[in-house]
Amino acid sequence: MSETNGHATNGNGHSNGHSNGSVTTTPTREPAHYALLKEKIAVLKQERQAIILAHNYQEGAIQDVADFCGDSLGLARMAQKTDAKVILFCGVHFMAETAAMLCPEKIVLIPDLNAGCSLADMIIPEQIRAWRAKHPDGVVVCYVNTSATVKAECDYCVTSTNGIKVIERIPADKEILFVPDYYLGSYLKAKTKRHIHLWKGYCPAHAAILPEKVDRLREARPEAEFLLHPECGCTTKQMDLADQVLSTEGMVQYVNRSPAKEFIVATENGLLHRLRTQHPEKTFYPASEYATCHHMQRNTLEKAFMSLVNMQHVVTVEATIAERAVLPIRRMLDIV
Ligand code: SF4
Repeated sequence: MSETNGHATNGNGHSNGHSNGSVTTTPTREPAHYALLKEKIAVLKQERQAIILAHNYQEGAIQDVADFCGDSLGLARMAQKTDAKVILFCGVHFMAETAAMLCPEKIVLIPDLNAGCSLADMIIPEQIRAWRAKHPDGVVVCYVNTSATVKAECDYCVTSTNGIKVIERIPADKEILFVPDYYLGSYLKAKTKRHIHLWKGYCPAHAAILPEKVDRLREARPEAEFLLHPECGCTTKQMDLADQVLSTEGMVQYVNRSPAKEFIVATENGLLHRLRTQHPEKTFYPASEYATCHHMQRNTLEKAFMSLVNMQHVVTVEATIAERAVLPIRRMLDIV
């Protein structure tokens, strides 16, 4: 998230950290027409019997109109739970696919069909089938950040919140392939001590968080607690040094109960909006100003509005794929 659009501030123009440890003040500058758009979205939501679900990495203006903000797991659960007829899913495509598979009776919309995921694109179904051919007794665990066609080839799905719990349920003698995120996989392997083959995928936004920058920021802000997402490229080096290794939702919960006043946050910078909105009295420093997901940023408030006006873009998953892809998701939801 750039600092020029105002969303990297704490929502009221308060201080904003940089990776070199300096602090500047950036005023909030939301486009003037956003107030009107927000009103129109509220009306349309009623008319369409829609709910807006927003991922923690969405721009602040979208988070502000959402009925629920959360991580992949929280959003999947909310999609299952809602009575709304329409889900406007402000996140990336695989998340909307997950909602569509869990709620086939609902209409799932995404503001921009091109909001994909670079990490999800790093594995295709044929590659999993090739691994299975060599490891016929192996178990394939996929991060939720995968396409439905990939999930259809997997045994279990996990999010960064529940990976340890799910892997601990798999019989100890099984070899496991974890796809596609190498860093989350490394973290799970270290924590569970299981025989896990790691796929070498990565998220470019999290890989932009570099250990040396984090080190400098931690030196400059010794009072700040360091919160690290396990997808970060710096995980292997920083994991032991982090005060907490957490999913985005885990970070929100942790900040709610921590007495600390300052935090260094190592994940996509969209999360800072939620943290700063909920805790204007605390200060949050992004671990890198470059930790921005360009896919997430494709969704804008204008596009969210147009989604409700035109009921676009409907996300569906072909029935034969959905039938298989929903199984690893349901296994995960049954465990956690
Ligand atoms: Fe995918 Fe990374 Fe963007 Fe998340 S932040 S949607 S993992 S590219």
